[in-house]
Formats: sequence, C-alpha cells, structure tokens
Amino acid sequence: MRDPGAILLVACYELGHQPLSLASPLAVLRRGGFSPAVVDTSVAELADEAIIRARLVAISAPMHTAMRLGVHAAARVRALNPTAHICFYGLYATLNAEYLLRSVADSVIGGEYEEALASLAEMLDTSREDASIAVPGVRTREHMEAPVLRRLDFAVPERDALPPPQTYAYLVRVDEVVPAGYVEASRGCLHTCAHCPITPVYGGRFFVVPRPLVLEDIRAQVCAGVGHITFGDPDFLNGPRHSLEIVRAMHAEFPWVTFDATIKVEHILERREIFPELAALGCAFVVSAVESLSEGVLSHLKKGHTRADVLAALRILDDAGIPMRPTFVAFTPWTTAQDYLDVLDFIAEHDLVEHVDPIQYAIRLLVPPESALLDDRDGTMWLGPLDEAALSYTWAHPDPRMDALQCEVQVLVECAANQREPIPVTFAAIRQLAAERLGVRVPELVGAGGGRGDTDGTGVLRRARRPVPHLSEPWFC
Ligand code: SF4
Repeated sequence: MRDPGAILLVACYELGHQPLSLASPLAVLRRGGFSPAVVDTSVAELADEAIIRARLVAISAPMHTAMRLGVHAAARVRALNPTAHICFYGLYATLNAEYLLRSVADSVIGGEYEEALASLAEMLDTSREDASIAVPGVRTREHMEAPVLRRLDFAVPERDALPPPQTYAYLVRVDEVVPAGYVEASRGCLHTCAHCPITPVYGGRFFVVPRPLVLEDIRAQVCAGVGHITFGDPDFLNGPRHSLEIVRAMHAEFPWVTFDATIKVEHILERREIFPELAALGCAFVVSAVESLSEGVLSHLKKGHTRADVLAALRILDDAGIPMRPTFVAFTPWTTAQDYLDVLDFIAEHDLVEHVDPIQYAIRLLVPPESALLDDRDGTMWLGPLDEAALSYTWAHPDPRMDALQCEVQVLVECAANQREPIPVTFAAIRQLAAERLGVRVPELVGAGGGRGDTDGTGVLRRARRPVPHLSEPWFC
C-alpha cells in the first residue's frame, strides 16, 4: 500500500478548480508514509495502468456532477481491477452511501474525510481487507460508521502532483484574464437551509482551517502563477474574524491578488460594515445564494432571507463597489410561473444581466437522499420516487408548463454556451421563451435608473452590458 501509485486518488470535476479534494488528502496520506498517485479526470486521462497498479482507489465526490462522473470511473476501475478497494469520499458520497455500497463502492467516507482515509489505507496495508474490522469514519456494508465531524489535524495541501493552475479556471476581468486558485478557510456551515447538501451531513456545524495553513496554501498557489483566489467555503462569513484575518494577511503579502467568496444574504446584512474593507483588500465579487425572490419558496428552502433582504444586500455590495453574482434554484415545486418571470424582470430592472450565469435560470431543485427537504412541513406531496442513479428524488411541478419550460431553458442555455453567445442575448432569449410558454407578453424593461426603452433590439438595457468579473467556468453543481 505504501508503494508509489498503490493508492490512487481520483477527482472528476470541481467547478474548474485545481482539486483541493486531491491536494489535501494527498498531504495527509504522504504524512502517513504513503505515496498516492492523483488524477483529475476533468483535465487528464485516467490511464488503465494507473488503475491496474492501485490497491485502493479513492474517488472524490464533493458535488452532484462529480459524483455522477465518479460512479462511471468506479465502474471502469471495477472492470479493470476487480480486487482494488474502491472508496468514495466527500459530501455526496455520504448522501448516496447506500446506493454506492450496493453498486460500485467498498467504503464511503463523509464529513471531514482526510484522516479516515489515511486510517483506511493503514488498515488495508496492515491487515489486508477484513470486513470484521471497523475503521472510524469509514462506512462499509458491514459497519455503519457516521461521517467525521471534528476538527482534524490538517496538513498543508500538496499540489505538486496536480496539473498547474493555468490548466484550470481563470478570473476574467475587463482588461485581463488571471489564473485562479482555490482554498477553503472553513468547512461545513452554521446554517441549515433545507435544500443544501451540507445540512444533512454537517447539521449546522462548521470547522475552521488553521490560518497559517490556508496562507501557506495561498502562497504556494501564487508562486505557481495564480493571481486570484476563490474562497470555496460554503459561507465565508460563518467565521468572520477568521476570514477577515486571512484576507488581510493575504493582501499584505500579495497586494495584487484578488479574491472572491460565497456569502449568504443574511451575512451581508449582518456584517455590512466589513464590505468596504473587503473591497479594499481585493474582493472582485461575491457569490450569494439568492435562490428565489418568492417568499413562499424561500420559506420552503429555509433560506433565512426575504426579497427585501436581497435588495438591501445588493445595495450594501454596490456601495462597497463589489459586484454580487447571485445564484438561483430557478425551478422548485413551489416556484410559480409568475415567480419565474419575476426573477427575470428583477435581474433586468436591477442591471444584473451580466452578473448571472445563464445556467442559473435552468437550475432545477435536486433532492438527494437524506435531504432536509424530505421533512418539509407542508408534506412531500410533490415528491416522486428516488432515482438512485440520478442521485436525486424525482419530482413534478403541479403546473406541467414549468417542467417543460425547465427542459427548454436548459437546452437553450447549453446551445448558447457552446456558441459563446453574449449573456444579454441569451438572457433576452430566455425571457422571450418564458413569456411565450407561460402565456404573457414580454414586458418592457425598466432599468434601475428608471429610463424606459433604452434597448437595442435584444430587449435588454444597453447599460446592463457592463462586464462583471467572473470565473471562466460557469457555475454548475
Ligand atoms: S448558508 Fe449556504 S452553505 Fe450554509 S446551509 Fe445555507 S445554502 Fe448551505
């Protein structure tokens, strides 16, 4: 097990980032005397030789797309190397543990996974595979171990075996593109939004990663050519002082490096005083999970904000000079036709067209196994059976036009992305399509400044075409 390549770590997709889910366990396993090989199949081939050499293949599943790709990779591993132990680790591994253990996996590790993965490697190294041995944090068909929820003895992620940052997403600004790096200053989340996959695993807990370790990782990535850092914390302001200290230290050492972070609306309102400083420290944009503007939908999702709060958060960020990049769950069982049209109008009226990746208008609510949505207070009449291979419960909208529209918007957005269509053109097409399918006239746009009819034939306000900093990889999850 300690031979080079006897452990194979595989990542399949991490939103265009160099996978921290490889770099972090790689460091912990090396500290334990192992020499894993790593492959990120989003940018490199998973070679037959690497699979055949491995005794333990550990596949990262931090999100839905990664998990689906990981299942395919596991099937290939099983076919080529039937005696290799296949382990899935990460958020979606936990949620789909039963399906994985019944189909392609020998074990599953959730929560804070690095040390449990190292313990699994130790067990396989010393005792060969023995089903009677339980490894803390490692769930198998025989042992129902819970996800690890304690602060680990982290190691500085090791990225030397990974493709260089220039292989991955770039920050795109008006006048330049900059290779983007990725760190996490914390994991888990203090909040328990019903639709969020973090909720059933972390249950409102979060763990900070030690500041020196995060800064060391940033240093290594900047030395490798990164000029922008994405803080991939589920929410950057779960530990505001910790996060602020990190970006202050980063700015002091690398004043030219910008950053982005994900911050919920509630936290923007609660911590409004810190945004001017974040802007001065190089915050290029803030991703915020707005999800919906409908009070009914927001209540089902337990988001903890209202439509008025979204407006207030936009104002706070505007005043600080930080663009918000809102994300949405555009289609839920509770989203009415009027709700959908309202979001499009809101985006246009507040000059946010360039702030939103068009895929956001096609996102359909996922309901993974263990989801807190299954406890919805109004019952789950909307819920269909679990589609294990799709990793989600099925559901149908009470208004069939909404399901049909979701499919059409999805196709429209994918075609537009393939043709590199400008965002305002795609936005106008979505608005037109939605109005036609939902039987309303496309309303005339009114910009935030109040001027009517300031359009150029696409139906979108000209002044909405301000380029907004963004990553070259759109937000798919
Ligand atoms: S605040 Fe964000 S990360 Fe936290 S539970 Fe809600 S959706 Fe998930």
